[in-house]
Amino acid sequence: MIDYHFPLIVGEEETLDERRLLTGVESGRMMNGPESVRFLVVHCSATRADRDYTVEQLLRDHRARGFRTVGYHFYIRRSGEVTRHRRLLEVGAHARGYNRCSLGVCYEGGLSAVDGRPADTRTPEQRQALRELLCRLHRLFPDALVVGHRDLPGMAKPCPCFDVTAEFPF
Ligand SMILES: [Zn+2]
Repeated sequence: MIDYHFPLIVGEEETLDERRLLTGVESGRMMNGPESVRFLVVHCSATRADRDYTVEQLLRDHRARGFRTVGYHFYIRRSGEVTRHRRLLEVGAHARGYNRCSLGVCYEGGLSAVDGRPADTRTPEQRQALRELLCRLHRLFPDALVVGHRDLPGMAKPCPCFDVTAEFPF
């Protein structure tokens, strides 16, 4: 294990002591440390651009799938409002096989209002909020690659319906 100095600060979050971190790691709820974050994974909610998909609906759907809470770390509504659902080093539930080494960011939408097909439906507010959030996370985890869910191996779905690596080449 890397020699951390406690309290360990990641962003604005504090892990007060080593024992608390290790307890979380052992229970499977926390990653080993900041160096575990190798990917920042962008998702869409795969809902139509003309429909609301609120945090409450998202929470209900993820609980129905057996998750303790929302599987993504961050969710961005069409208004550009950003909500956080997991701590930064908490293991998420958003990318099979990659949850222990990534953070998940999801925007509301991803399906065309016209025909329900996959589409980049981000509003200007969402684009700006996503950019600001990813820049912030990139500063905290400079070695992490920004990728779309579909860029991960074995992922057949079009999520998040735009070329993340072209837009965020860091
Ligand atoms: Zn996804």
